[in-house]
Amino acid sequence: MSRLLFAVLALALSSCATLGGANYYSVDEEWQAGRQLEAQLRTQLPLTNDATLTRYVDQIGQAMARQTPLGNRQWKFFVVRDDAINAFNVPGGLVYVNTGLIANVGSAGELAGAIAHEVAHGAARHGTSRLSKAQEANILAGVLGGGGGVEGIAAQIAAQGAFASFSRSDEREADRLGVQIMARTGYDPDGLGDLLERLASQERSGGTAFFRTHPLSSDRMQTVRQLARQYDGRGLRMNDSQFASVRRRAAQL
Ligand SMILES: [Zn+2]
Repeated sequence: MSRLLFAVLALALSSCATLGGANYYSVDEEWQAGRQLEAQLRTQLPLTNDATLTRYVDQIGQAMARQTPLGNRQWKFFVVRDDAINAFNVPGGLVYVNTGLIANVGSAGELAGAIAHEVAHGAARHGTSRLSKAQEANILAGVLGGGGGVEGIAAQIAAQGAFASFSRSDEREADRLGVQIMARTGYDPDGLGDLLERLASQERSGGTAFFRTHPLSSDRMQTVRQLARQYDGRGLRMNDSQFASVRRRAAQL
């Protein structure tokens, strides 16, 4: 690449960067790519067909997705038979929750906190934003972007790792939106704080997969507690009648 072209590109990109977090993919493109990723992941992940578990997670997730600006899109929630304590969002309204997470949380509120956090990543479109940033870096390095079309997008998301870790600022935003989503759905947002504290204490004795994909910062728990205090917790749920049996089922799978 000529030095002039490089400079022009760098200038264009730096002015782009000042706009902050440009996402080069339309919501339509992302959701179409999501259908392909869903089909791909169905063959790659050990999804459970336990209807009780899936229905429980799906009901919470759908109610939460409706509270976001992308609530008119199709969202799908899956339970993965995996002991690793983790949950993840894949672009196009896809949320996966491991049985290991469900079996190890202390309340329905903590599980709702994990689901709200993933819905928040999806509604803020962190996956495709991250892909956009990676492509800016590729252009600067003189590498051509990947193929076009929805298939190209799905392939690129899969190539960079659909569950690669988010940045700390993505985590802050997902926590902030997650707390809001919980309160709007009738869950006590302290559930997210409880979840992070539980996982952080397990982190000290060996580590959890959750913080590898959702990086923990020193002020994260404190920030979530402060955000939760903005809502009146009275009347908001921390538990429900189904949770104990749901957790038992997850532990047995
Ligand atoms: Zn996260």
